[in-house]
Amino acid sequence: MEVDEKVIEKQLLRAIILTKVKDAVEWAINWSRGNSIWPATFGLACCAIEMMASSMPRYDMARFGYEVFRASPRQADLMIVAGTVTMKMAPVLRKIYDQMPEPKYVISMGTCANTGGKYHNYAVLQGVDQIVPVDIYVPGCPPRPESLIYGILELKKKIERERGVVL
Ligand code: SF4
Repeated sequence: MEVDEKVIEKQLLRAIILTKVKDAVEWAINWSRGNSIWPATFGLACCAIEMMASSMPRYDMARFGYEVFRASPRQADLMIVAGTVTMKMAPVLRKIYDQMPEPKYVISMGTCANTGGKYHNYAVLQGVDQIVPVDIYVPGCPPRPESLIYGILELKKKIERERGVVL
């Protein structure tokens, strides 16, 4: 009986240590992911100009490590939907999203991407969340670069809180 207790104690200790190691690895992976988000080079309308401005010297998104806009979706883990999503563009947007590797994130930037904005008609998608899962919504028409940067920093917090990273 005494032997069993010792075995249980040993296994319990092992489980605690493994859990701590898993937590530490998860934290390190999430911290790295949150500090090196690579957005896809992808803009749809006027909001895209504000997105471009956010990586210019005045706003300097590079301070946080997010300025590496990738020309290929296969190298990007963030899609910033900046602008009006027309019905014609919607399947293309979804295709680009599908080509991005996991884990991937989406920021909906501006009223048009969030809800269709002032274009309440048959030619415009009434919210990009109808075709891709959105992590962060940035309001405004257009949102200023500071708003986008704030949105990305909120995404960073979300990524850092993520659980279930495979060891
Ligand atoms: S939200 Fe405003 S600025 Fe952005 S794409 Fe729509 S109309 Fe243009």
